[in-house]
Amino acid sequence: MSISRRQFLKLCGATGAAISVSGSLIPEIVAAMEKAAAGNPPVVWIQGSGCTGCSVSLLNTVHPNIAEVLLKIISLKYHPTIMASAGDKAFEYLFQTADKNKGKFFLAVEGSIATGAGGKYCIPGKLKGKEVTFVEMMKDLGPKAAAVLALGQCGAYGGIPAGKPNPTDSKGVMDFFKDHGIKTPVINIPGCPPHPDWMVGTIAHVLMFGIPELDSDGRPTLFFGTNVHDNCAYRSYYEEKKFAKLFGEEGCRLELGCKGPESFSDCWKRGWNNNVNWCIHNSLCLGCTEPGYPDRFAPFYEKTTG
Ligand code: SF4
Ligand code: SF4
Repeated sequence: MSISRRQFLKLCGATGAAISVSGSLIPEIVAAMEKAAAGNPPVVWIQGSGCTGCSVSLLNTVHPNIAEVLLKIISLKYHPTIMASAGDKAFEYLFQTADKNKGKFFLAVEGSIATGAGGKYCIPGKLKGKEVTFVEMMKDLGPKAAAVLALGQCGAYGGIPAGKPNPTDSKGVMDFFKDHGIKTPVINIPGCPPHPDWMVGTIAHVLMFGIPELDSDGRPTLFFGTNVHDNCAYRSYYEEKKFAKLFGEEGCRLELGCKGPESFSDCWKRGWNNNVNWCIHNSLCLGCTEPGYPDRFAPFYEKTTG
């Protein structure tokens, strides 16, 4: 069974109530991915300065189907959190995989790149007894990859590790590549953490149809093309100037610090945890998909926008 790009975009853009792309990976997408994956394009997932929240977000909500997708379809060759092997041998295998699949593998980067102190703030492993910094990993693996998926706020824009005063001089993949003249295409999938549908949907698009349309911040418009505030269920309260003064009160959350007017994502229709809830229902939008988060939106619980 095959699926056209138009059908794929329609399925990914459906509401969370109708489909969780990563949760159920409806049969058409799975079948199309299996077909497209003849030859199994390898995906290598590495982690720099971060909290592993992107991996947790991916794995928490999609069990068990994601295991099948990651192992059988995407051909995940390396993932420090979920793979059984560890230590020097596993680390060696990572670099061997990149060399063997030069120009063909996709590099998923979770966490930011700590460039301060010659990269010594982040040392993921050793090769032949010598410590290898994450900076060195990015310089080696980045140019060999077909494309990089910069995951989460940290991978995309530096995120919390890059927040002021940023003592480790952390940065996201795009900025790092600019600094080092690395030309590999980068797709940003921000969020703190990103929704699993954003990650799996983007990987599926890359494998089946190539790099999706990106906005000026390098994000797939498929998932990040709409404004939270323009589509929020509380928008009518905003128009009526009915603002909640306390959490739990009826009304728009603007006065409590909601950053929805400056945020672009489809959380408003996709929801989280299989569309059980989303930020604004219980609290407010913190702008986690935007460049400059967290500093740009601080303090979180004070009105800074709108
Ligand atoms: S300010 Fe926040 S709560 Fe109010 S309408 Fe906009 S996005 Fe919704
Ligand atoms: S509603 Fe705002 S803070 Fe919550 S996940 Fe979406 S963009 Fe991030």
